Amino acid sequence: TDPALIRNFCIIAHIDHGKSTLADRMLQITGVVDDRSMRAQYLDRMDIERERGITIKSQAVRLPYDGHVLNMIDTPGHVDFTYEVSRSLQACEGAILLVDAAQGIEAQTLANLYLAMNADLHIIPVLNKIDLPAAQPEKFAEELAGLIGCDPSDVLRVSGKTGEGVRELLDHVVREVPAPVGRADAAARALIFDSVYDTYRGVVTYVRVVDGHLGKRERILMMSTAATHETLEIGVISPEPRPAELGLGVGEVGYLITGVKDVRQSRVGDTVTSAVKSAGEMLAGYEHPKPMVFSGLYPIDGDEYPELREALDKLQLNDAALVYEPETSAALGFGFRVGFLGLLHMEIVRERLEREFGLSLISTAPNVIYRVIMEDGSELTVTNPSEFPTGGKIAQVFEPVTKSTILAPSEFIGAIMEICQGRRGNLLGMDYLSEDRVEIRYTLPLGEIIFDFFDQLKSRTRGYASLDYEPAGEQEADLVKVDILLQGEPVDAFSAIVHREKAYAYGTEMAKKLRELIPRQQFEVPIQAAIGARVIARENIRAIRKDVLAKCYGGDISRKRKLLEKQKEGKKRMKMVGRVEVPQEAFVAALSTD
Ligand code: GDP
Ligand code: MG
Repeated sequence: TDPALIRNFCIIAHIDHGKSTLADRMLQITGVVDDRSMRAQYLDRMDIERERGITIKSQAVRLPYDGHVLNMIDTPGHVDFTYEVSRSLQACEGAILLVDAAQGIEAQTLANLYLAMNADLHIIPVLNKIDLPAAQPEKFAEELAGLIGCDPSDVLRVSGKTGEGVRELLDHVVREVPAPVGRADAAARALIFDSVYDTYRGVVTYVRVVDGHLGKRERILMMSTAATHETLEIGVISPEPRPAELGLGVGEVGYLITGVKDVRQSRVGDTVTSAVKSAGEMLAGYEHPKPMVFSGLYPIDGDEYPELREALDKLQLNDAALVYEPETSAALGFGFRVGFLGLLHMEIVRERLEREFGLSLISTAPNVIYRVIMEDGSELTVTNPSEFPTGGKIAQVFEPVTKSTILAPSEFIGAIMEICQGRRGNLLGMDYLSEDRVEIRYTLPLGEIIFDFFDQLKSRTRGYASLDYEPAGEQEADLVKVDILLQGEPVDAFSAIVHREKAYAYGTEMAKKLRELIPRQQFEVPIQAAIGARVIARENIRAIRKDVLAKCYGGDISRKRKLLEKQKEGKKRMKMVGRVEVPQEAFVAALSTD
């Protein structure tokens, strides 16, 4: 295709502002999907995406329109996947900035807008859902115009639901989004903006060709790893994969298949070139996705450990950001320490493991990465509280911090500030987006955000606040490890690294929870919370004489046998901590956040 006829654009928005629905209408209007095969959120292909109504993987679709080729890239909107969003943006020249006309600008509207501006994209401001009775297009057009510095009348208005204004929007894209420019005769360079594992086809790699041409049966080179592969198939998605006999030229967006079985061999952000005639320089900044949040994952049934390993291996084929290593816990047995991009990523991985692989899992409370410097100058990276040094002398502990942006109606400023101060936040600034909506910026420790911050924020603002955060380096903090001991034996799964001022609260809460969850034993069981050797909280489980047979003394034998079997059944699900028998459920319940 002549690059002059190509328009590459993406749709960016806060979650639920209607990206996928708008994409649906575009698929229909351009005739790529006929009315009969249409279903809502057509491009969200994974079950979990469809059920949760969120987009996790980017999708690219080629839409023929009015003599032009439009390549639309639907992006995941969530902070955890910012890296993928920014790669998708790099594959475009334009971005539709979509805002719900009944909600106005939210935290991810801003975050995505800044990403798009950084990628130098032409931005088209659009209000969506104008069919809603609660829509306030005048008010929010002004807000949006104020944000990007245009006239309110330049803000387009559409309804992804009814299709109103969508044709005009496509015309606008054709007119306003710049055509791609590249050197057709140069060595091929294509940006990988997504990479997906498919059981039948192996890894499918989505690329945007910047320079040159990629063809079928060509030897290609992945520039960050220097690995070479052969393109077995190359094509476009419209809306299903369709091989392109002529390959892909300048400005084109499509996919290629090389037969590799692992997305780590075809990483998002990498540059593909020809192995025979290689480009000299990679395309802009390739980064490894870095895990930010860690948690222990254990099978509830210890026998499922091999299955868990196999499931993680399989998921990793499709998720280059997922990292894990074996770990053993005295309380929970054999499991893995798993690293995630963020909380949503963690939830998704866990849900997929349970659903797609039929596993039942316990996960320990999530934690971030700490950097510990000892007095002798040695340094430690701690991703698991049980590795936090207790013996030696700690000189300094560093924790990751974020720059967090919260958007909310101004009536909630007080509540938001209270939550943030309570979590060691540092106010950076505050701006009014309109009379009654504010943007509040804080530096917040990541470790405080991953601990039900978002839930609290939502409940204290009746769901009206939205949050976005980005990594902003690290800071020194007075952090300690709190251990929970049963009869003097530490239960490793409950150890946590917390700020010194919160150690007592964490310790008493865990001790209380466990007292309620652990059944009485034949002997008294003290529960203690301790920092090193210093006990900071204590509870007691009183002793009981438990004899199931006493109840049916003299009763008939089959009933006795049944009771014994039932008790044996129960024992299987018990874990021993020292001499204390703890039912598995107690761990599960104590570890679940409520
Ligand atoms: P995404 O998270 O940005 O991809 O948003 P979705 O496309 O999944 O839409 C979120 C919700 O808003 C869904 O329940 C849609 O049915 C609804 N929605 C999307 N566009 C419109 C619209 O134009 N009008 C109305 N009334 N609802 C819409
Ligand atoms: Mg979506």
